[in-house]
Amino acid sequence: MITIAQQFGMTEALQQLGIHTINEGTSTGQNHFSNGELLESFSPVDGQLIATVKTSTIVDYEKVMQTATEAFQSFRTMPAPQRGEIVRQFGEKLRKNKEALGKLVSYEMGKSLQEGYGEVQEMIDICDFAVGLSRQLHGLTMHSERPGHRMYEQYHPLGVVGIISAFNFPVAVWAWNTALAWISGDVCVWKPSEKTPLCGVACQNIIAQVIKENNLPEGISCLINGDYTVGALMTNDKRIPLISATGSTRMGKIVAQAVASRLGKSLLELGGNNAIIVTPDADIKMTVIGAVFGAVGTAGQRCTSTRRLIIHESIYEKVKDAIVSAYGQLKIGNPLDQNNHVGPLIDLHAVEMYKNALSKVVAEGGKVLVEGGVLSGEGYESGCYVKPAIAEADNSFEIVQHETFAPVLYLLRYSGTVENAIQLQNGVAQGLSSAIMTNNLREAELFLSVVGSDCGIANVNIGTSGAEIGGAFGGEKETGGGRESGSDAWKIYMRRQTNTINYTTSLPLAQGIKFDL
Ligand code: NAD
Repeated sequence: MITIAQQFGMTEALQQLGIHTINEGTSTGQNHFSNGELLESFSPVDGQLIATVKTSTIVDYEKVMQTATEAFQSFRTMPAPQRGEIVRQFGEKLRKNKEALGKLVSYEMGKSLQEGYGEVQEMIDICDFAVGLSRQLHGLTMHSERPGHRMYEQYHPLGVVGIISAFNFPVAVWAWNTALAWISGDVCVWKPSEKTPLCGVACQNIIAQVIKENNLPEGISCLINGDYTVGALMTNDKRIPLISATGSTRMGKIVAQAVASRLGKSLLELGGNNAIIVTPDADIKMTVIGAVFGAVGTAGQRCTSTRRLIIHESIYEKVKDAIVSAYGQLKIGNPLDQNNHVGPLIDLHAVEMYKNALSKVVAEGGKVLVEGGVLSGEGYESGCYVKPAIAEADNSFEIVQHETFAPVLYLLRYSGTVENAIQLQNGVAQGLSSAIMTNNLREAELFLSVVGSDCGIANVNIGTSGAEIGGAFGGEKETGGGRESGSDAWKIYMRRQTNTINYTTSLPLAQGIKFDL
């Protein structure tokens, strides 16, 4: 029988990415610093062992830090546009490896093949963005209050940037950070999610080629593998001025405290609890597409997935019926097969969390509209395929207040004006993404105003999920406040210095202070 891996050319893809074994359980990758226990990577698509990766020991970690620190000494002196050229070459390598890496993302993480390719495209896009940016890392000049003085500010690299990433964007989040950090002159140490270690090895192998071809020190990009204990080595390490951590709010609270206790900087990209407000003036067809893609895309495992639909009572039944009917057409199965809409959850623990959420919403008084459940039988052997579910609920339910990383959508009803919907939308602890579906200008502008959405992302007439790299990405409140990717997000990867130059022969003091000798 032909396996899914064979059918979709996984062996060839893995070979191209420098991962030489499949189903053999041997150690893999060009990671020079891992000598610890083996970490097994199973595909949620078919439950098969893809390959194993060695985790990093404390001794490995020390070697990584030495290599990275050493690399920084020279990399920081390379002119930023030349660093941009390195990132340009990295983008070119990603173009060549887009198909192979996209397949690996899909097979190891479980998102659809199109989304796997899309994730690699995001990496390419951020490289292009960073190349241009490498000529524009500009500070301001200001007029000095003292005659014959010039004052300006400039940005210098920080040093070693530590990156901790989540399983659901196993390659793009790393690239969002590294592309900007590298043009800024920083070097990076990355701990990918222990649930998607092969994606980490593949990325490291790609950048290692660029580093080698340019005779640059290997410590510019380092990889360490393992669980939270390996991540904690970085968060507690004074040699790392910036920790960029993507993952759950639970993790972010621990990381933030560890980094703050040594007065380091942290960039936190944490959980969301995203809602779409549907007003009486909404286009129902657009609403259904945006809501269904937002709720079931990536099997509800995006930080920006739509979790809550806040619908005006006057159109509630109509919207509900349209969404329930759309759910009836969803195909659940192998994500590498483009006919399927919904792939698996990442692992059996995620399936438990999903089941738990469905029982909780019922226990709290919710009403299930589209029945959930775990699929079994042919094609579902991994045990990770679940049915996207819909429940009518109340915003005050404990389970609705939490992010469940699975395709569970809560329908909430509002009455009166859009202000009431905004209050519900903002009435959760998280603040990542939000949207309003309306053709009413007043409602749209109010939603975007100071008394509107309190999220880092607020959209009109598009859903909550998916973002372009050109804008700064991130959220408020328990989402952590970090901003990555576009706009001026690069500034967090650099230290700002204010410079004042006196080109006279006297030494006037600021604020007119006299100090005559
Ligand atoms: P997770 O918090 O379980 O793990 C994320 C990473 O943090 C992993 O690499 C893990 O090993 C590491 N980690 C965990 N505890 C740590 C600790 N105490 N010290 C150091 N490192 C630690 O998250 P997950 O299940 O991989 O990902 C899903 C979560 O990520 C969701 O909450 C999702 O919303 C969030 N997420 C947010 C964004 C965003 O941009 N806001 C993007 C992607 C995912």
